[in-house]
Amino acid sequence: METVVSGIRPTGNLHLGNYFGAVKNFLKMQHDANCYFFVADYHSLTTHPHPDNLNASVKQVLAENLACGLNPEICTLYVQSDLPEVAELYLLLNMLAYTGELERSVTFKEKIRKDPNNVNAGLLTYPVLMAADILIHKAAKVPVGKDQEQHLEFTRNFAVRFNHLYGVEFFPQPVAYNFGVQLVKVPGLDGSGKMGKSEAEGNAVFLIDEHDTIKKKVMRAVTDSGPTEPNQPKPEAITNIFTLMKLVSSNDTVQHFEDAYNNCTIRYGDMKKQLAEDMNIFIAPIREKIKEISSDEKYISKVVREGAEKAHESARKTVQEVRNIIGMRSF
Ligand code: AMP
Repeated sequence: METVVSGIRPTGNLHLGNYFGAVKNFLKMQHDANCYFFVADYHSLTTHPHPDNLNASVKQVLAENLACGLNPEICTLYVQSDLPEVAELYLLLNMLAYTGELERSVTFKEKIRKDPNNVNAGLLTYPVLMAADILIHKAAKVPVGKDQEQHLEFTRNFAVRFNHLYGVEFFPQPVAYNFGVQLVKVPGLDGSGKMGKSEAEGNAVFLIDEHDTIKKKVMRAVTDSGPTEPNQPKPEAITNIFTLMKLVSSNDTVQHFEDAYNNCTIRYGDMKKQLAEDMNIFIAPIREKIKEISSDEKYISKVVREGAEKAHESARKTVQEVRNIIGMRSF
């Protein structure tokens, strides 16, 4: 089985965009590959979160991913900072990374543009830490979106440089994991673009949202005055509502509203009411599971302890071999 590594950011709650765009694929991937999932808490330090917030976010993101169905019996789920070998490999790989190439990273340039007062070295060397996360398990594949392709390129460059410098065939050159399905883009409720936590309030429906909140958000979703002629193409905001409905409602329900749209009898209020109900039916069991897991400290601590143990095995082996190749041998 191929080894796959994927990071989970401990920032904010999961929304339906995360679920259908990423988590759902991870649930399948954990059966198809030897998966390592880690909560990227070292990475999140570039923005200096408050210690209490960091701890709470790590716990929450674990609870939410477990509630969705990540199964620690099948995959390896751990917290990045529980694996100090990652920090060591990061240090060693830093010797092979050129500041020039790191400065040319699209994400780095974007970050310093957005926050010019916090250009720390951790931000610059983010791709090196990401390479360490991946290479520590000698992963062959990484499930990345388009925006992360460049980071994966960095990982391959560092791997090749290491192999070349020491004349070994040690690190693989990881490539993007292909889910074998078209990646969905889940629209937000504000009439355009993507569902995302940093967008306008009410744009995202979170997996922890209660029924009332879901109803309020969905009922406020942008629509228009409705079609005036049969079989008109749909404006973007309306397409978005249909796209969301296709994710959580039955085919019959979707067809009912498609027909109503095409013969101009659609009432968006009814459609949104139905969408809110179906979203709640979809979210409710996950929401309850999140509550159950977040209140079970013992279970979470068992999961991360056992996850770290499993992850340690391959991390220790990799770092020992790397030390040996570099010449850091015991006397
Ligand atoms: P983020 O919450 O922005 O850290 O996103 C984590 C991952 O969730 C991304 O890499 C995407 O795979 C997925 N994702 C986030 N928002 C959406 C969305 N609106 N539609 C599809 N996938 C999404």
